[in-house]
Amino acid sequence: MPTEITEQKILHALENVTHPDQKASLSASGAVSGIVIKNGNIGFTIEIAPEFAGQAETLKTEAKKAVEAVEGVLSVTVLMTAHRPASQSPSASQPTSQPTGQNDGQNDSRQSDVIRPAKHVIAVASGKGGVGKSTTAINLALALAAAGQKVGILDADIYGPSLPRLLGMNKKPETEGNKLIPLDAWGLQAMSIGFLVEEESPTIWRGPMVMSAVQQMLRDVAWTDLDVLVVDMPPGTGDTQLTLSQRAELAGAVIVSTPQDLALIDARKGLNMFKRVDVPVLGIVENMSYFLCPSCGERADIFGTGGAETEAARLNLPFLGAIPLHMEIRETSDAGTPIVASQPDSTHAKIYHAIADKILAELARGKREAPKFIME
Ligand code: ADP
Repeated sequence: MPTEITEQKILHALENVTHPDQKASLSASGAVSGIVIKNGNIGFTIEIAPEFAGQAETLKTEAKKAVEAVEGVLSVTVLMTAHRPASQSPSASQPTSQPTGQNDGQNDSRQSDVIRPAKHVIAVASGKGGVGKSTTAINLALALAAAGQKVGILDADIYGPSLPRLLGMNKKPETEGNKLIPLDAWGLQAMSIGFLVEEESPTIWRGPMVMSAVQQMLRDVAWTDLDVLVVDMPPGTGDTQLTLSQRAELAGAVIVSTPQDLALIDARKGLNMFKRVDVPVLGIVENMSYFLCPSCGERADIFGTGGAETEAARLNLPFLGAIPLHMEIRETSDAGTPIVASQPDSTHAKIYHAIADKILAELARGKREAPKFIME
């Protein structure tokens, strides 16, 4: 019979790791919180003061190793966060120096609070970059809004934010109290790290600051009366998924894939990461699915077709739709005039509308179990 993994065992393992202040073990320091144990998959948060940020990666590795050694543990995900001094609010003029937001020192219990920026938070994800995930996310957000929902879009890609380009916007959000006011873009409430930092500065977001930045964008942004918050996730796997699932209770994930990934190896990676954190997958979207000739309108399945659909059926997941590879989608996306907003009656916009309707139907079905995947 497998031995049960308990919080106590995790903390016990972390007694062997020294806190960077050298005063106590990681367990005794009180820096560890939010321990999640799910079928051998462990997640927890370590909070350290910004002056120790330089040691964050080493600490993370040591903590991971210590917990991995606990009997029965299959995987360990560690989320690093840093304090912000109590007096500092997330001002748009100085977000780069202290991009934290995890804890303002006034109320430590906030750390474990679930943040509710919207009735439903949906993650749009992909296994790798360049598949059109961001283009799909913005057009789906617009289609959801056209269906009568109050919608926000959050660009959670700290390393390569694309919302400024997709919306053709690059102004700094205003602040009110200690909240950032999202930008108004085509009726959406929009927030991206790209609105806050200069083009050249994203490198400073690497390491532990990344996760707190995501939390700050969920919690310290004045999202107002949202029905749906669409989160454009960074590609691949990472701690962002854990932060979101721990802090924001995701309604589900939409996985974007291209038919070239015929075996959908990369998309599977995307599915797997959500499975790990017990987030249901709302369905799969096949992007750049077929080629629509801009001059004659003829459809050519140049990549073959149906890969994503077959895969969705195999995994027992809804197939949400296929979006063609088309010049107009690329041009509008890159010009900051997403096609659902700029050409609302076009054939392409209708495809996004149909996908949005399916997503709404999935959401209306309410909370569902994370599906059981068969993974090689
Ligand atoms: P990702 O977020 O996956 O990195 P993007 O949304 O930034 O991908 O898209 C990558 C490029 O592909 C962009 O230039 C975008 O305009 C283009 N693109 C995305 N979807 C389509 C499509 N269906 N047809 C044509 N071009 C597309």
